[in-house]
Amino acid sequence: MANQDSTNPSHDLFEQFVQAQTCKEVQRIFSELCHHLQVDPRDYQSFYTKLKERLNYWKAKSLWVKLDKRAQHQDYQQGEVCAKNKCLVLGAGPCGLRTAIELALLGAHVVVLEKRDSFSRNNVLHLWPYTISDLRGLAAKKFYGKFCTGALDHISIRQLQLILLKVCLLLGVEVQTGVEFKGFVEPSGATGWMAKLFPDNHPAGKFQFDVFISAGGGSFVPYGFKRKELRGKLAIGITCNFLNRHTAAETQVAEISGVARIYNQKFFQDLLTETGIDLENIVYYKDDTHYFVMTAKKKSLLKMGVIKQDFSDADKLLAQVNVDQEALLRYAYDAAQFSTGHCLPDMQFAQNHAGQPDVAMFDFTCMHRAENASLVRERKGKKLLMGLVGDCLVEPFWPLGTGIARGFLAAFDTAWMVRSWGKGRPHMEVLAERESIYQLLSQTTPENTSKKYSAFSIDPATRYQHVNLNSVKAFQVKNINIIYSFY
Ligand code: FAD
Repeated sequence: MANQDSTNPSHDLFEQFVQAQTCKEVQRIFSELCHHLQVDPRDYQSFYTKLKERLNYWKAKSLWVKLDKRAQHQDYQQGEVCAKNKCLVLGAGPCGLRTAIELALLGAHVVVLEKRDSFSRNNVLHLWPYTISDLRGLAAKKFYGKFCTGALDHISIRQLQLILLKVCLLLGVEVQTGVEFKGFVEPSGATGWMAKLFPDNHPAGKFQFDVFISAGGGSFVPYGFKRKELRGKLAIGITCNFLNRHTAAETQVAEISGVARIYNQKFFQDLLTETGIDLENIVYYKDDTHYFVMTAKKKSLLKMGVIKQDFSDADKLLAQVNVDQEALLRYAYDAAQFSTGHCLPDMQFAQNHAGQPDVAMFDFTCMHRAENASLVRERKGKKLLMGLVGDCLVEPFWPLGTGIARGFLAAFDTAWMVRSWGKGRPHMEVLAERESIYQLLSQTTPENTSKKYSAFSIDPATRYQHVNLNSVKAFQVKNINIIYSFY
């Protein structure tokens, strides 16, 4: 059997696709595989079935079993329910890709736009138990053998993107990278809603859609949506990544899944005495890199020369010109050394996308969340359903690791909304239901969501313990969620 596999070029290409470790590599090998098998990924409705027929050997079959199991869920009505919908998803971050998968399973034609052309974020995301179960169901382990082995409950952002990108492509989602969404082209005459893109001659600019999902991250909020600012006390986050050479010595070092000052005052006092570093909390995960995220006190950053001058305005305080990069590297290095008991040998910073040591400082003083999760725009009788998912819906506080957990919940809720839209339910009802569900999102924890992970689906009732789909009434969404323009 093994010999037969290695001599079959399509099996070989499939194996390369499964193992590919960069976004470009995944896209290139996928396109070669399609070409070789003579299947057209633009034929999104029958692509997956044809691919399965033509890659009918044991290694591929184990993947199809997983994906089939998901696809056969009653919620998707065998891909019929959204067969007439065209969905544009902005952003190939984890939440955009996860949403795209659900929309494809509902049968929609899905195009994802991503302005970057590589996945380069080393930073590591904490996964709630349900997200691990969800990703296992999408064959994450097949694409990334180390996925959540043993007690591990985290993954680097780039690995997660790679897994989800591969699933997207197999399900017939078109993922366009290196193209930036710049706004909408409103319907005119026979054409429907389209996107203004950069570069402006990009073929995805011709795609006409009736659903637009923004998963553009914390700084991207499309026209029509308002954001609330939640201002807390000054919180300065530092992330850093060191090379993981996977040596025996590195394996011995224990992870820190989160120590907060209030629970371990001695640790933080000793850190301060030994190094001058004053932290509120610290997390250390051993993943593709050794990853640390910590919240540092302003006073110690000033004292250690990381921040040059004190300002009450957080933007000014953390502006690039006010940060001594060398001192920041030292600060992060020393904090990482101390918190791992000086046991990580030969610590060397991993590089970020710009080829620089991967250390960054972020301001969490002011977090944003969108006032509403959905909107309908109508122009010349053509309706566009809009939804927000991920960080552009609710910005997470990284040390708590809520980004993916709440991000995926919102992705499922959004898919549920698109399902109702596809079924032709009156749009005010669709929006009211989406807003009712959105009210729950910020309070979700692993404890208050259902524990029956295997039963999780896009149906909110399978995930939230107490969900009232009618807590927001249709008349309440009329003024904030619907933008008509008849001219
Ligand atoms: P993102 O992952 O931010 O993805 C948004 C995508 O949209 C990006 O790929 C972006 O390039 C693309 N995009 C934006 N605008 C456009 C446009 N106009 N056209 C086309 N594409 C566009 N969370 C943690 O828990 N721990 C961390 O250490 C951590 N580090 C992070 C570091 C950085 C630099 C960033 C940006 C985020 C970090 N996060 C971290 C947050 C975490 O990545 C997100 O919670 C998680 O990835 C889910 O986010 P998302 O998919 O909603 O958005």
